[in-house]
Amino acid sequence: MSEHLTESAIGQTTLAWCPTCARMSKHRVDRVAVGSHAGKPGPCLEHGPKNNLTKDQQQRRERERQKELFP
Ligand SMILES: [Zn+2]
Repeated sequence: MSEHLTESAIGQTTLAWCPTCARMSKHRVDRVAVGSHAGKPGPCLEHGPKNNLTKDQQQRRERERQKELFP
């Protein structure tokens, strides 16, 4: 994915896919690199720093990962 956002979006939020939430969620827009004028979706803001998913979500996530590793 090479989706880049404009510099003015940095510090705001954008919708991006979160593999942890397993859905489109709000992400903070970060600078692509120091000195760069482009932004990219940064950390997801919705699941927080701690993994507080329900057991169901964790299992679904695990299945998704297995599918990626062993298609
Ligand atoms: Zn998330």
